[in-house]
Amino acid sequence: MLVPFEKLTEMILPRDVIGGHGAIEKIYEVFRRISDTDKVVIVAGKNTYEVAGKKVEEILETKGVNVNVLITGDATEENVEYVKEETKKIGAKVIIGVGGGTKIDIAKKSAFDLNIDFISVPTSASHDGVASPRASIKKGDISISMEASMPVAIVADTEIMVKSPFRFLASGAADVLSNLTAVKDWSLAHRLKGERISSSAYMIAEFAANEIINNSSQIKPNLEESVWFVMKQIAFSGIAMSVAGSSRPASGSEHMFAHAVEAIKKGNGLHGELCGIGTIISMYLHGGDWSLVKDTLKNIGAPVKLDQVGLNEEDAIQALMMAHKIRPDRYTILGENGLSENAAREALKITGVI
Ligand SMILES: [Zn+2]
Repeated sequence: MLVPFEKLTEMILPRDVIGGHGAIEKIYEVFRRISDTDKVVIVAGKNTYEVAGKKVEEILETKGVNVNVLITGDATEENVEYVKEETKKIGAKVIIGVGGGTKIDIAKKSAFDLNIDFISVPTSASHDGVASPRASIKKGDISISMEASMPVAIVADTEIMVKSPFRFLASGAADVLSNLTAVKDWSLAHRLKGERISSSAYMIAEFAANEIINNSSQIKPNLEESVWFVMKQIAFSGIAMSVAGSSRPASGSEHMFAHAVEAIKKGNGLHGELCGIGTIISMYLHGGDWSLVKDTLKNIGAPVKLDQVGLNEEDAIQALMMAHKIRPDRYTILGENGLSENAAREALKITGVI
């Protein structure tokens, strides 16, 4: 008997990805392609408003669009509620998020809840969230990764982004590099747990990471081309997540380590920086080429040692031992019981991150 075909796949992809010098000038054109309404909400922080939000506002206002700027703070549930309430009152059908992380998260989560369009205008490329359908929102003290809107358009102006600290860009490149172990974890979960895997999402995520490896020495400060290049890989990571319908291809055990460090509130590493160090450790656990990961991070100028992100050995051991509990539904090389203290210490020692 023939088995009925019951698969149903949904991929929500961005329709406009514009990256490069002066890209922001295209914001009206992009807005018009998406919407024929005359109202828009801009979500920005004080800083990101000055850096890019103001420009977006000016361009749209000159064309007769009614622009409402909401200046917000951290990506908290309260700020999401605030943006949603205001957007409803205004009656806007498009939210433009202008920022490097938290403002984008607020904008994409608000747009998702309101079922309206979201345009991402990143001011830095510090992690892959600027082009992904996931948002990290704080509930009280802890950050939770939630489903959010995929940006319908990404307008990444390298002239603006290159002015943000280089540390952000290196961190964003490290976040893309972490796809290497994320896909290994995915493949393991497929083999061990029968989890569904998408070979196309796998390939796209891995391709983006390999691009970072092959061009790591080209990622330099004060160079718009570097921003353009990393941003492109970030967009591919986002597309891989869209194709997979989850963050699986871009987030595995290395991200769990990063989230565990965040949870114990130790150190001062950026998300991508912690993921980079996590990738060295996870690659070692997978028996893969962790020195290639380490060399790539070094070439980029991203941290490869704990003290570069304000962590000591005991902090990292604590994070490694609890990392498997961060997302129990996501099977990784950390297994169901996580690492033993000895194994964690050994992993840190052998990979030389201490
Ligand atoms: Zn990440």
